[in-house]
Amino acid sequence: MNRKSLFADLMAQLSLGAAPQSLIGGALHSGAGAEITLIDPFTQEPLTSYADAGVALATRACEAARDAQRVWMSRSAAARGLVMQDIARAILGLADPLSQLESLVAGKPIRDTRVEVAKVAEMFTYYGGWADKLHGEVIPVPSGHLNFTLREPLGVVFQITPWNAPIFTAGWQIAPAIATGNGVVIKPSELTPITTVALVRIAEAAGLPAGLVNVLAGLGPTAGTAAIEHAAVRKVIFVGSPETGRRVAVTAAAALKPCVLELGGKSANIVFADANLKHACLGAQAAIFSGAGQSCVAGSRLLVQREVHAELLEMLTEGMNKIRLGDPLDPETEIGPISNARQFSHIAQMVASAGGTTVTRSSTPATGYFIAPTILRGLTNAALAAQTEIFGPVVTALPFADEAEAIAMANDTAFGLAGAVWTADLGRAHRIAGAVRAGTFWINSYKAIHVSSPFGGSLNSGFGRSSGTDALMEYTASKSIWLDAATTPRIAFGYVS
Ligand code: NAD
Repeated sequence: MNRKSLFADLMAQLSLGAAPQSLIGGALHSGAGAEITLIDPFTQEPLTSYADAGVALATRACEAARDAQRVWMSRSAAARGLVMQDIARAILGLADPLSQLESLVAGKPIRDTRVEVAKVAEMFTYYGGWADKLHGEVIPVPSGHLNFTLREPLGVVFQITPWNAPIFTAGWQIAPAIATGNGVVIKPSELTPITTVALVRIAEAAGLPAGLVNVLAGLGPTAGTAAIEHAAVRKVIFVGSPETGRRVAVTAAAALKPCVLELGGKSANIVFADANLKHACLGAQAAIFSGAGQSCVAGSRLLVQREVHAELLEMLTEGMNKIRLGDPLDPETEIGPISNARQFSHIAQMVASAGGTTVTRSSTPATGYFIAPTILRGLTNAALAAQTEIFGPVVTALPFADEAEAIAMANDTAFGLAGAVWTADLGRAHRIAGAVRAGTFWINSYKAIHVSSPFGGSLNSGFGRSSGTDALMEYTASKSIWLDAATTPRIAFGYVS
């Protein structure tokens, strides 16, 4: 089957219509804005096109979420949790077309998208379990009142997601939002809107009330801005680049709305001479080359103790040359193309202007936005390539002398998302984990993540947390209730103490 026929077939299997559309109130809607063309990143041929959702559909989506949220909250927490378990099963039942569609449109290897779809199902299972276990507290206030708290949903939340892991990021944010009783409007990247719509279609067929989650297929400055500003939206959760995150936060601040910002990184992967170098090398490969480096937590700065710097880079070069590049739909493929033309140009330009010595793999497939895995050597930590998020399979290798220098270099960026250390010295591992500025840090590991563990960053990597019980807090607010049960009410003119 050719790729366009496969696309049409997958769209039909997932009840998505012929071309990308927004999903509002349980129905598919075509936009009326600017035309957006999706290019297959492997063939570089147009795959489909659609019209931007625009302001009008954004407004309808926010209204639909506001209305459906009341319906959702009229059900018991246990019933809401059970719907989420049904959704998890339904996702697994359609895992094949979902992962194929994600690979075709986003260019991600099918071996990765299969895992990501399974993880999305796990997110609904995990947060479905929380739906009836989130509760407030009774606080022993000195006045003798019965004082207790409720954790209440915010109302409608607006989520904005990027193109690098579309369905994974959608599940990551939708599951905790609805488990805590919120309505959702979500705007995936205009380059990868389809699997987010597919996910919500599946959820609705499994029992999610129509309109509880609405998907806007379209552009940030139009549909995105309109949704941020809509009166029903109480919080904005943004996953994407620092530049756009800043714009989103400013728009939200003008409307006095809080944000969670999950932004980029320039994470340090630190290897000491006493580490198991074979493991450290495999870890370094996974850290920067998996997903073609299009990962916010990519280990894009490889800090290696001077004594083993040359040896480790030799091992990494050898490993790099064995990685299988190819068609994202081929189960053997380990690295697919870069997801889109804009990102491809950015990476190519960063490599071309990096300076130093470029060690790169010689061959890439004949078509597709491929960037060969690349190591940049001979630069300092001050170089642009060591300070800027490249978001591709490109690692800057930097030697260091000792623990103090490794920590100083790791923290010498504008980011604070992730990092790792490879060492046999447990005490040092613990010291470094404490000293490096990061929301997630791995010891003798890289890229281990789970829905039950918190995730987020600081500085240019953003603020707020996703995943785990932290996300339950982000998607709720506490309300304090005071009940006076005394026979003579404790009323004072002023404060009751
Ligand atoms: P991007 O910032 O260009 O776009 C992200 C989203 O913002 C898209 O949906 C886009 O349409 C939307 N957008 C653009 N302008 C907008 C506006 N004015 N108002 C509202 N929305 C707007 O990012 P990208 O290129 O899609 O993704 C790559 C970036 O995402 C990288 O920096 C990467 O590190 C980051 N990322 C972070 C995490 C994390 O959890 N920290 C996860 C994945 C990706």
